[in-house]
Amino acid sequence: MITADKNMTASQQQLVADWQTLLRTFIKPENEATKTILLKYMEPILFGLHSFLNKHVGITEEVSIKDLAEQYKNSRINPYPEKKLADVITDLIENIAPYAVNIASPYFIGHMTSAIPFFMVHLKTITAALNQNVVKLETSKVVSVVEKQVLAKIHRLIFQKDDAFYDEHIQNPDTTLGCFTDGGTLANTTALWVARNAAMPPTDGFQGIEAEGLMAAYRRYGIDRGVILVSRLGHYSLSKACGLLGIGNQNLIPVDVDSRNKLNIKELKQAIRTIENEKGRNKIIAVIGIAGTTETGNIDPLDQIADICAEKGIHYHIDAAWGGPTLMSEKYGCLLKGIEKADSVTIDGHKQFYMPMTCGMVYFKDPHKMDYIAYHARYVNRPGSVDLGIRSLSGSREANSLILDSTLKIMGSKGFELLIDHGIETAKAFAKEIKKRPLFQLISPPELNILTYRICPLYIQEKFLTASQQERHEINETLNYINQHIQRCQREAGHSFVSRTTLHLKRLFNRDIVVFRCVLMNPMTDTKILNDILDEQEEIFNHYFKDILSARSY
Ligand SMILES: *Cc1c(COP(=O)(O)O)cnc(C)c1O
Repeated sequence: MITADKNMTASQQQLVADWQTLLRTFIKPENEATKTILLKYMEPILFGLHSFLNKHVGITEEVSIKDLAEQYKNSRINPYPEKKLADVITDLIENIAPYAVNIASPYFIGHMTSAIPFFMVHLKTITAALNQNVVKLETSKVVSVVEKQVLAKIHRLIFQKDDAFYDEHIQNPDTTLGCFTDGGTLANTTALWVARNAAMPPTDGFQGIEAEGLMAAYRRYGIDRGVILVSRLGHYSLSKACGLLGIGNQNLIPVDVDSRNKLNIKELKQAIRTIENEKGRNKIIAVIGIAGTTETGNIDPLDQIADICAEKGIHYHIDAAWGGPTLMSEKYGCLLKGIEKADSVTIDGHKQFYMPMTCGMVYFKDPHKMDYIAYHARYVNRPGSVDLGIRSLSGSREANSLILDSTLKIMGSKGFELLIDHGIETAKAFAKEIKKRPLFQLISPPELNILTYRICPLYIQEKFLTASQQERHEINETLNYINQHIQRCQREAGHSFVSRTTLHLKRLFNRDIVVFRCVLMNPMTDTKILNDILDEQEEIFNHYFKDILSARSY
């Protein structure tokens, strides 16, 4: 593809697109020299890419995103090749990686994206090299049956059906235990898509909502409004799904949580009663339980929600995008008790299965439930075929199942148990360290491996309890300002990264409280590192913000 134009002198040599060279890139690496270079460049990718990543872990101001954007403003595709492969790889390693975010650092504890085992690079490379398309058997063959097998493995982890069940369904072309998606967002969307269609199925003279649309379905079933209920800590992907499915994101009804950020069962029952008694006819399409809220890592009372849904015949979806893999821990798996009663469950592969970006999954207890979204085409996905694209929101799709299946083989559920337990126990140890320091206030103690806290000196915590409404408001505003800025200062200094969110807490007098949010999933993160992070926050506070508090004579 890339050869020098022979009519030019060395200094003005231009790369030209050349058919013969191009063909060689489709058959094999251009030549022996290129092969050597390809191998040579696999080395830093496998072993050293992290050392090329910025030594800073956050989005620092060292080089601002604005300055970077200045360098990326050319929208023209060059007609001629600009660079040889070797130069492109060097460029990525030396000019892109240092300005990307070192999410693998043990000091990066702000988000659900973290270090992954090194073998993921190998597995990802293999799936790229095989380049199977699991939308249909004709472009994937054995990979489609591997996918059905791994789907059954995770289905079993969640729903614990018996051998006979899995014998019947594991390779059954007519049934579906779940499917791989782009991520948790599309997994949730798929689940609610199925729930919506199941709520308004075909009947005499009506071909179903999928065929005739929402208006016709609501008319046929005498409904004015379809609603979905979830705790107010539900992930925003659920709003997107409700918008996309025509349900309307305003009809995703938030239900209040208790002091531990878990869906309040009384409130849920009350909300259902209100909806049922409202003027106009409402239909509850689904109730959603969360196994690991994104902000605080808490788990809804899954068992109790299941009973309510069973009694009312409502589709029960559990968003376990984050917490699902906790099921592999003998010690903490019981926290998800009741998950086996769900109709559908979302789990992300790129979160606590430690897979590379991106992989989501959705599972259905009833292997026929996904029939509600079955699509056939004349040239693929014929009825009765093993084509996985028949029941799937995506079309063409990579073979993520190979990565997950291989990972399960390399790690065993015991390997994942070690990671899960380490995360939860490190979070608990971190909570203890926070409590030891009078400058900090633990806001949500960890149930899984996520916790939130803020800077709020002990004497102010005490003052807060007896203060007037107005004083409380002022104190809280000041604290919010301070915490927001400390988070930013720390991020910009680039030694460590915690994220920030705002929680509405009844317990703290119904205030919106800015908190630091920490996700402890990197196995290299330990108590020493966490204390370094707290030390740094104390330093920033003492240096820049202490005076604000004393100036206001708090
Ligand atoms: C991350 C997350 C999602 C969304 O998943 P993506 O993979 O980012 O699309 C949904 N729900 C919960 C609870 C999550 O933590």
